[in-house]
Amino acid sequence: MLAAHFDCPGGPENLYVKEVMKPHPGEGEVLVKVSASALNRADLLQRRGKYPPPKGSSDILGLEAAGSVAGLGPGCTGRWKIGDAVMALLSGGGQAEYVTVPEGHLMPVPKDMTFIQAAAIPEAWLTAFQLLHFVGKIQKGETVLIHAGASGVGMAAIQLVRLANAIPIVTAGTQEKLQATTNAGAAAGFNYKNEDFSEKVLAFTQDIILDCVGGSYWEKNLSCLRTDGRWVIYGLLSGGEVHGDLLARLLSKRGSIHTSLLRSRDKEYKEQLVKAFIENVLPYFSGGASPHLQPFVDSVYPLHEIVEAHRKMEESKNIGKIVIEMPV
Ligand code: NAP
Repeated sequence: MLAAHFDCPGGPENLYVKEVMKPHPGEGEVLVKVSASALNRADLLQRRGKYPPPKGSSDILGLEAAGSVAGLGPGCTGRWKIGDAVMALLSGGGQAEYVTVPEGHLMPVPKDMTFIQAAAIPEAWLTAFQLLHFVGKIQKGETVLIHAGASGVGMAAIQLVRLANAIPIVTAGTQEKLQATTNAGAAAGFNYKNEDFSEKVLAFTQDIILDCVGGSYWEKNLSCLRTDGRWVIYGLLSGGEVHGDLLARLLSKRGSIHTSLLRSRDKEYKEQLVKAFIENVLPYFSGGASPHLQPFVDSVYPLHEIVEAHRKMEESKNIGKIVIEMPV
């Protein structure tokens, strides 16, 4: 089968499409014929050699995919049958013609949704859902500050905060991105490149901060975190180094720091997460549902243009998700 591949860690130019062995589904696993996958920052880090796949996972890039069930391993419980349209949360392997996945990490593609749209859901939406509900314990009426609001995860988080009857506030780096976040439901947005977001955000009380930026934002985050607030760190786009008296400032607010990574969670945790998402969120993707949730697809690249897709994300030019379409 064909798959995105690189021989040595480095820039996007190291990527190419290669013929590799098709995987076989193991105990309790499903084989999926992939129609589309989507990019994540983790793919960029892995390509640079800075984020190796967890032990036992495929070393092919791709944390999510949508396609059709093409095979069932021994011990599958009958939840899925050949031909079912599914979307998959993966710890690797999505940017290939076939991928294997534990049956409990699959979700049905919502009615009337294309594989391109469905591929934009699993990693970004399950991450945002996990951060808000499993980690941040969001409550009705709370205010949530979402950094990188127009990212794949950010656009999902805005809609999930609204679904929880809470208030999303965002930061982003361009006016166009801020407009997109407003369209997605953000109550207010601030351009961190030309204003001090903490001064503006102070007008709102931040109960939760979803932070994928890290180091450079710590002081501003603490300025706008409310007393007893939860600061959830799930990425370090600006690096992890902190200079200053973080602990004293955190203690003065009785704030708590939580950190979270989805990829390295165990199989059972991911099954619980997927189950909760199917029950509580998935129905809202179908036409007629209110509120109506939508995956935001920025652009679609065929697999053989994987280099251009990585370049676009590396230059932070996407709003929402970059999808990779597999050859038919
Ligand atoms: P994405 O769509 O590529 O968006 C990332 C955006 O972050 C960029 O477009 C850029 O937008 C902003 N950004 C980049 N560098 C920045 C910096 N130094 N300071 C401030 N903003 C910066 O990303 P994604 O795939 O959705 O991922 C978003 C974040 O979530 C990443 O950090 C990723 O590693 C993390 N993540 C974590 C988990 C987990 O389980 N922990 C899972 C999935 C993703 P602007 O133009 O607005 O600057």
